[in-house]
Amino acid sequence: MLAVRGLRKSFGGRTVLDGFDLRVEPGEFVALLGPNGSGKSTALRCVVGLETPDGGEIDVSGNAAMVFQKIHLVGRRTALDNVCSGALGRLPLRRSLFCPHDVRDEAMRCLDRVGLADRALDRCARLSGGQQQRVAIARALCQRASVILADEPVSALDPQAAVQVMELLVDLAGEGMTVVAVLHQPELARNYAHRIVEMVAQ
Ligand code: ATP
Ligand code: MG
Repeated sequence: MLAVRGLRKSFGGRTVLDGFDLRVEPGEFVALLGPNGSGKSTALRCVVGLETPDGGEIDVSGNAAMVFQKIHLVGRRTALDNVCSGALGRLPLRRSLFCPHDVRDEAMRCLDRVGLADRALDRCARLSGGQQQRVAIARALCQRASVILADEPVSALDPQAAVQVMELLVDLAGEGMTVVAVLHQPELARNYAHRIVEMVAQ
């Protein structure tokens, strides 16, 4: 569950969020739409602690993990290394080979969950954009996140890969996760999200 109440954030005297409210239940997939600069990324970044709000309340049940448009994976490392790093909460400075077995097993299950178990030992740089985004989602799962915040997760993907990622996000919600995705394509939002929340520029 995610509950945001009266969230406020300004940058240098410019108000970006002026009392933003959002409540998303477990099992629900909400699409966040709105024009450039309306504060979508800022709202998600406040939820995961990448920005400090000026005011308001944020309640998250369990862990929240963020997935980005620009996929922050270590390209020279394998998919498995990258997912293990999610569980260990740090960059994959050590290879998954040196991960505790249970972490490695869990990372494999997360990769399997996103349909990429067979690519576990491929370097991320050799995977397609859509596959890389699914590895990033597997890494979020491996953080034992119950809330997934995806900031334009499909903006850099071709339509087919975008659909795969959208279907994955819907499935995760179907399994009880709380999912929020910033989207710039209203059609994808209408086709996949349970609910659309539109932000307006301040
Ligand atoms: P887009 O659709 O382009 O991604 P957005 O809705 O995600 O837009 P934000 O990235 O949240 O918008 O930005 C909202 C406003 O806050 C913008 O005007 C942006 O320039 C400003 N902003 C965001 N982060 C910072 C920052 N760290 N310092 C100063 N201004 C910022
Ligand atoms: Mg943004």
